[in-house]
Amino acid sequence: MDLRFVDRNSCQDVKELDRSVKNRFNWAWLEEKDCNGDFLSDYIRKMPEAGVAWCISCQGKIVYGSTGKKVFHVHAKNSTHGKARRATKCSQSLPAIIATTKKWKTAQRNPQKLPKHFHTVLLKIFKISLKL
Ligand SMILES: [Zn+2]
Repeated sequence: MDLRFVDRNSCQDVKELDRSVKNRFNWAWLEEKDCNGDFLSDYIRKMPEAGVAWCISCQGKIVYGSTGKKVFHVHAKNSTHGKARRATKCSQSLPAIIATTKKWKTAQRNPQKLPKHFHTVLLKIFKISLKL
């Protein structure tokens, strides 16, 4: 596939390009961080097509013409993007099971802080996690 993106520094007017869509592209959108702590500018590229951008992590189009920048934040949350960004980056968020193990270790260091039924709860969490 031949991919071309609109460069921020180019003289191409994205507002003019997007004149047919409700939400026109705004470069300032890309200065925002998503829920993963990534700047949208790290992976979102504007395509020379009205209302369409490209995610370089997922290698897929994102249509923002009707919803605007919100769609990028929704996109950042979906699991496909999550997997793709983990594959391209080393900064990984901890899977739930490791987070649970961490809690477990902290709890072992501070046993006095444990609620009485903590072990039972933790065991349940582990059993549920293993089934997944
Ligand atoms: Zn993506």
